[in-house]
Amino acid sequence: MADFCKNCGKELGESDRFCPSCGTKLDYWNVSESSPNTIHREGSPDYEEPNATLWIIIGVLSSVFCCLIGGIGTTVYAAKASENVKSRDFETANENIETAKKWFLATVIIGVISFVIGLLAGI
Ligand SMILES: [Zn+2]
Repeated sequence: MADFCKNCGKELGESDRFCPSCGTKLDYWNVSESSPNTIHREGSPDYEEPNATLWIIIGVLSSVFCCLIGGIGTTVYAAKASENVKSRDFETANENIETAKKWFLATVIIGVISFVIGLLAGI
């Protein structure tokens, strides 16, 4: 069974990782070697189990003490992350935590602005 370079069409040896003619990295090595490594990255710092419960608490607190809409946004995404953690999908969980953090940041900014406006209106 011979493979041919997608880029230049040259016939390739079975152990070639790069095309000997044009130097293109060969896809079937990416498929057979790299993807198991990227899927099984348990213990990698990128895929640590995120603390979704903490963000649910932060979301609830910010909806109580700041603004309801921003707090709900944080809580909703933290709750999604919590579900992802239960199904061991840390990658999606981390994405949802990142979104929850953005909601929280927006909530803090809105909270500070409305506090300042409140002060100014009070004067
Ligand atoms: Zn080639």
